[in-house]
Amino acid sequence: MNTQARKKGVSSVGERGSRDLRFAIIGSGMAGILSAVKLEEEGLTDFTVYEKADRVGGTWRENTYPGLSCDVPSHLYCYSFARNPDWSHFFSPGYEIQAYFERVVDEYKLAPHIRFGDEVVSCSFDDGRWKISTRSGHRDEVDVVIAATGVLHHPKYPDIEGLECFEGALFHSARWDHDVLLEGARVGIIGTGSTSVQIVSAIVDRVQQLSLFQRTAQWIMPATNPEYDASEKRSFRENPQLIADLRAATSQLYDMFSSAVVDAGSAQIKGIEEACKANLVNSVVDPALRERLRPDYRAACKRLIVSTDFYEAIQKPNAELVTEPIEAVETKGVRTTDGVLRELDVLVLATGFAVDAFVRPMSVEGRNGVKLDDVWADRPEAYLSISVPDFPNFFMLNGPNGPVGNFSLVEVAELQVGYIMSLVDRLRSGECREIAPTEAALREFESARVQAAKKTVWASGCRSWYLDDRGVPAVWPWPFERFRVEMSTPDWTAYEFCG
Ligand SMILES: Cc1cc2nc3c(=O)[nH]c(=O)nc-3n(C[C@H](O)[C@H](O)[C@H](O)COP(=O)(O)OP(=O)(O)OC[C@H]3O[C@@H](n4cnc5c(N)ncnc54)[C@H](O)[C@@H]3O)c2cc1C
Repeated sequence: MNTQARKKGVSSVGERGSRDLRFAIIGSGMAGILSAVKLEEEGLTDFTVYEKADRVGGTWRENTYPGLSCDVPSHLYCYSFARNPDWSHFFSPGYEIQAYFERVVDEYKLAPHIRFGDEVVSCSFDDGRWKISTRSGHRDEVDVVIAATGVLHHPKYPDIEGLECFEGALFHSARWDHDVLLEGARVGIIGTGSTSVQIVSAIVDRVQQLSLFQRTAQWIMPATNPEYDASEKRSFRENPQLIADLRAATSQLYDMFSSAVVDAGSAQIKGIEEACKANLVNSVVDPALRERLRPDYRAACKRLIVSTDFYEAIQKPNAELVTEPIEAVETKGVRTTDGVLRELDVLVLATGFAVDAFVRPMSVEGRNGVKLDDVWADRPEAYLSISVPDFPNFFMLNGPNGPVGNFSLVEVAELQVGYIMSLVDRLRSGECREIAPTEAALREFESARVQAAKKTVWASGCRSWYLDDRGVPAVWPWPFERFRVEMSTPDWTAYEFCG
């Protein structure tokens, strides 16, 4: 339902009375900023955005590694209501995305709502309201919590013997140490995901020696990344329809991708596979290196990497692909199981994130003292990735099992916020004071999701961060269009209303 249609709904139910609602938004990344804009737009101005860091931006604030860029086209990776004619590239660098989010906060005058440097440590539902406590001891009481705490947020550190003994510079890719000089350094990178690939391409010409420690080879989708020149930017500014057309075209492409990955037998996924294979064959000259770079699983089983220049970078004379497993990290470098020690000055852990944390470590206590930690003891679950039975008026953005991977999470969050606003309308109208999904709705959703996940390419036989402890892909397993449909109007029979 669009804002206008929802507003119509509000005014009709509003005749039965309306309530003033207070909100807490937790997190000021892409999704938290979006929520703030949308609350303002709906005239719901009584809210605080809690942000534990000292700046907005989330992912794009924390990740500053060389080569960071979005692998979703820039004109798609931005809000539908705040388009940007000035993107520098088809895929723009991370610092531009960070600047974009900061600009949106300025333009929408959100700063007075944001409480920086204060982490929400607990939310507990008591007497129909959420009691919020922060690390500084601040207390708040709200009707609705929007948890926009991020999904790729908590760095994951590898369990490698001796890591703490390394005498050189050692850091996670999401905690890049810009004081460390790369020029002339011997640099090791552990991990081969999208981040690692971006770093390799960005630094290979700056360092003396680059060793990429690969546990799993990756399929690489070829891409180009054209720069937008001044006249193109002017055209985008003068004719917004051009941006709309570009968004529609790229969105269609990503929709096709989403339909391909959820059907491992589809012709489209085979096409993607062929493109990746051809990229490997056409780009890597040395047959032995080519074979070491060739994955033994299907393309897109792991998050598909998009790169313009990784193969070129890894073939440079000062770059080395190390496929022997790591035995241990020592004071001087990394020793592999063949006994070779590669001496290093810098060791980068491009080892990803703990993807099943979601709102945790924040403590969340719902009705009758039910703890989210207990409910999620096996694994996190949420109805439509947004809400959990017994946790009324607590809504997550980019929560468990949602569409994540090679999509624009901005569109995902916009659809989720629209849906949440429909739920909020019910609270606002005074129709009910508490809204939460039923246990039956969650069970039905989960069982359909797990069933559908079996058909996806993510379940076709590889190790990846998409898989939960049972080996079931913990992501939205249907085409993206289905997500749009689900998000357009709540199925009210899936909810219980109290008060
Ligand atoms: C390297 C990298 C590349 C990526 N590339 C893409 C891409 O190409 N396309 C794509 O769609 N997505 C990509 N992503 C995913 C990206 O995380 C999302 O697109 C988006 O930024 C998520 O926004 P968010 O607001 O949900 O979460 P985040 O950006 O993680 O923001 C969460 C915010 O909440 C704050 N917070 C968390 N807990 C608390 C608390 N308890 N109290 C107070 N504050 C709290 C954090 O400090 C943070 O500011 C990438 C992620 C990474 C790490």
